[in-house]
Amino acid sequence: MKTSLLELTRSLIEQDTVSAHGTGKIADFVANELSDFGFKTRLHETTVEGVRQTNVIAWVGPAEPDGLIISGHLDTVPFQGQPGWNSDPLELVTADGRVVGRGVTDMKGFVAQCLVAARDIRPESLTSPLVFIYTCLEEVGCLGARGLAPVLPSLIPEIPIPKLAWIGEPTDYEVFHAHKGVVDFEIVVHGQGGHSSLPDKGVNAITVAGKVLERIDSVQKAHIRKSRREDERLFSDAPFATFNVGSIKGGTASNMIPEECRIRLSYRPLPGTDPLGPYLEITKGLEALDLHDAAGGSSIAEVSFGTPLVVAGLNSPTGTTLEKALRRNAKVGRSGLPFCTDGGAFETAGITSLICGPGELSQAHQPNESISRTSLENGPDFIRDVLRKLCGAVFRESRT
Ligand SMILES: [Zn+2]
Repeated sequence: MKTSLLELTRSLIEQDTVSAHGTGKIADFVANELSDFGFKTRLHETTVEGVRQTNVIAWVGPAEPDGLIISGHLDTVPFQGQPGWNSDPLELVTADGRVVGRGVTDMKGFVAQCLVAARDIRPESLTSPLVFIYTCLEEVGCLGARGLAPVLPSLIPEIPIPKLAWIGEPTDYEVFHAHKGVVDFEIVVHGQGGHSSLPDKGVNAITVAGKVLERIDSVQKAHIRKSRREDERLFSDAPFATFNVGSIKGGTASNMIPEECRIRLSYRPLPGTDPLGPYLEITKGLEALDLHDAAGGSSIAEVSFGTPLVVAGLNSPTGTTLEKALRRNAKVGRSGLPFCTDGGAFETAGITSLICGPGELSQAHQPNESISRTSLENGPDFIRDVLRKLCGAVFRESRT
């Protein structure tokens, strides 16, 4: 007997795939399932601190152009230490018409839906290839997809890489074309420590860090001033790159001159702009800064920058065949998404992504993360419908 969608979701939820804990085991599980359904599979894997971080690529169908990629991520955000859970996050619980568990919305429910839809495909019916891509490390900067995108053609030379991707992130079945990117980096101000009664013998790293923060704020103001109409449509709340100083650390005691101050900063660049533009504006702008502290002597602080982690934004064209297929069962949004996806990384490989999936964004990353049973159970039919339209798929009689 075939495993039900709910049981399959349970099998995925039971596996702890918090980003840092790896996706090796769940990738083996998903690849084995798809292999049983007639898919060819390949694992793209790295070992990070002894942990397997694995992307799964599985495909079926002829070596024709115009296929489809369907993608999701296998990792989840952490649950350890997250207050508010009423049940074991790794145990699937059903209550009040909802299914609860870490990752059920973001986004193991969608992965389970794909597996259920895929198992009844008649491979010989496909007129173009179907490729599933399930990634690792999405929740920590889309690192899995970023590593995978450039090598994808060499990993599956048997078929042309489809140019369209459907990413099933939780949007409550609304189709999104665009999102901002994220750039994250550290700034370290190196001063000179000493006794606070002798300020001229030191350089106060925190005081100088204050000037760096003012610089960041002035870059933010410049970006607010140059917002464009196109971006106002996509990101009406903030049609410009937004900056966030996330943490600042420095100093030991009020009678000691702090010798170091570390600032952790991220910003969200607009799609279609150079994601490193604001980074360069901040770093170059420092050349004009006075890096003395007022009571200090002639010495100045040094400022160094960490390597920025860059997740690209997304602005996919509208009116694609994928959009037409999705809109039969989903509404098409015209605004941008507030979060990042693997779509930005896929775009660097010439793949156009649309974001549309089951479950509400408001559930993602929350304690007692849940999805309605209806939203979960509607998925396989939706996926089959898209595969009929885009890949010519015919399905065996099935019960989900
Ligand atoms: Zn997600």
